Amino acid sequence: MFWLLISMMKCFTQGRNISARKKNIIEKVKYFQSWQKALCLFSLAFIATIVSCNGKAGDSIFASNPDDSISPVITTRGPMMIMEGEGHDSTFLTKGLKVTDNSGLVKLTIDSSQVKWNQQGTYKVVYTAKDSAQNVTTVTEELRVVGKNEKIIYLTFDDGPSVCTDDLLKILRDEKVKATFFVTAQFSHYIDRLGAIAKEGHEVVIHTYSHDFRIYKSIESYFEDLNKINDLIEKYTGKRSRILRHPGGSSNTINRKYNSDPKFMDKLCVALLDSGYQFVDWNLDSQDASGNNVPVSRLVNSACHTYHNVMCLLMHDTGAKLTTVQALPQIIHYFKQQGYEFGVLNSVDYVCWHGGEKKKERLNALRASMNAEKSGKASKAVPAAPSKPAAKAEVKPVEKPSTKSLEKPSEKKHSSDHHSSHDHHSKKDSEKSTSLKTDSVA
Ligand SMILES: [Zn+2]
Repeated sequence: MFWLLISMMKCFTQGRNISARKKNIIEKVKYFQSWQKALCLFSLAFIATIVSCNGKAGDSIFASNPDDSISPVITTRGPMMIMEGEGHDSTFLTKGLKVTDNSGLVKLTIDSSQVKWNQQGTYKVVYTAKDSAQNVTTVTEELRVVGKNEKIIYLTFDDGPSVCTDDLLKILRDEKVKATFFVTAQFSHYIDRLGAIAKEGHEVVIHTYSHDFRIYKSIESYFEDLNKINDLIEKYTGKRSRILRHPGGSSNTINRKYNSDPKFMDKLCVALLDSGYQFVDWNLDSQDASGNNVPVSRLVNSACHTYHNVMCLLMHDTGAKLTTVQALPQIIHYFKQQGYEFGVLNSVDYVCWHGGEKKKERLNALRASMNAEKSGKASKAVPAAPSKPAAKAEVKPVEKPSTKSLEKPSEKKHSSDHHSSHDHHSKKDSEKSTSLKTDSVA
């Protein structure tokens, strides 16, 4: 329309001959019509993405394309988890959700009719996407409602697979409990055990490919290492992981040896969360990283505590941790006696961070200031106004406000803080060569 008006004005003001003016206007009208057509198509595609809950969506309103045999792709954030009695709405089910299709015309239905939001249990949520050619994709995810008094212990093993992995698996099998393995590729001889771990129902999640702290040189180098281990996880288990534990924990200080930015770890954490990952520290430490083959009695004394209803216990799976294997049955028996259920870490909704609520606030503030800086750069004419964009930036799909009570804020006493994390992994540095040696002998 704008071009049409301009053209007409030009014709009158410039006094061109009639035929030239007509031709010009016709060309502009044609040009306008082609843009109008494109805009119409774009609007239709936009309107066509319908999200509804509990199967209340209307019927498809689009003419089908018989040549389209490609089904839509649904990407969810994986298994979901909330605490009983916490407020929720349907947006919880769409956090991190992506639906794509070649046609761009997709109707999405989310069936959560089985979910009892205020009753402990594990429920199914069914996501169905249908495109204009009636190609249908269905994805079912679990939603777990954790009871307020439910006791869960997450047994976690870092640094494997190693010479010890099979022994750990046997104990877990005999005891009929599940665990989570934060894996590496540092003991390449055992890498195929990733498949065995997953096959037995344990969770295989990300630690690091190299376990070389130089990954902390930059965000890019961290992600490069992360993608390499996730490729291996996918190769052996058939699925990629979104759960990770940083080498040294999320508040380690060892990263400062490799970069000069005091906010590096926080920036990395924000980048991970914004990419759909969840990082998991620990709120209970077996102390098996305090030396090689720490005496069993010390490991048992360190691990057997019930500070919280939801406990995440740090242990290691390397050739230098043979006593961890020996201590494991006693540790499992203790938590069984205390009435704990053995869970696996598979939901990005579970938050266990060193620093607790303070860390969450700090990361939100950092994200807000980074976004404000970005928007300031984007519009050079308008100076950056940090307050408004900051508020907007705090609402991120990967934030988990509804599950915050899964972790209690005062964990510092029982968790390894960043100094001890640092020490722990400084020791591990020297340990690693021993582990490698032990493993290569085996
Ligand atoms: Zn480690």
